[in-house]
Amino acid sequence: MTDERRSCVDCGAKGCDGRDGRRPDFCLTDNLPGGLLEESLGHYRDGEDGEILRVAATVEHDGYLRWCRVQETMEFARRMGYRRIGIATCVGLLSESRTLARILRANGFEVFGVGCKTGMVCKTDVGIDPVCCEVGRNICNPVLQAEVLNHEGTELNVVVGLCVGHDALFYRHSAAPVTTLVAKDRVLANNPAGALYTAGSYYSRLENADMERPLPKQRVG
Ligand code: SF4
Repeated sequence: MTDERRSCVDCGAKGCDGRDGRRPDFCLTDNLPGGLLEESLGHYRDGEDGEILRVAATVEHDGYLRWCRVQETMEFARRMGYRRIGIATCVGLLSESRTLARILRANGFEVFGVGCKTGMVCKTDVGIDPVCCEVGRNICNPVLQAEVLNHEGTELNVVVGLCVGHDALFYRHSAAPVTTLVAKDRVLANNPAGALYTAGSYYSRLENADMERPLPKQRVG
């Protein structure tokens, strides 16, 4: 490890997950920059941030180990009083988004979805290297997706499989709160955590500086 400052990702104690747990000397709870904790709590006093925090806690509690994420999303929306749901979808997951829309509509929600390729702008028109057209001619347009849903007045937006980076732009430009239902991973069946679960075996190459090197010939299991 470098001399980089240690933080929660270097902690094996997790003592903050209770009242009197054991904590390392670098524990962030004990070393927070002045005023940050109080400032964060100020957001929850009133307004939508506080309501989201409190409602999310009830969904976590009531559905703990019982509800799948689709169900949790609907419960959250229902308890927040959101009726108009936006879906920002990758066109590669339109079928899954259609299923989601059907489930949401069957549960009384109004749904408006917008696909990433809407507008049909060529990648080269916005300065993207022409070589990127090898995996598709048109840009994903997450800012447009957000603006369309803002225009529609959606109250909660759900991300279904937006690309890395495109999702970041969508989160930045969405007026409504955003929750992610599907994190795209084209290799791991949209389960990016799979690479973390197998980082000690199949995906150990992720910790190598050269991630493009061929897979090991030797079997790891
Ligand atoms: S807050 Fe402290 S105890 Fe909790 S994960 Fe971070 S370093 Fe560990």
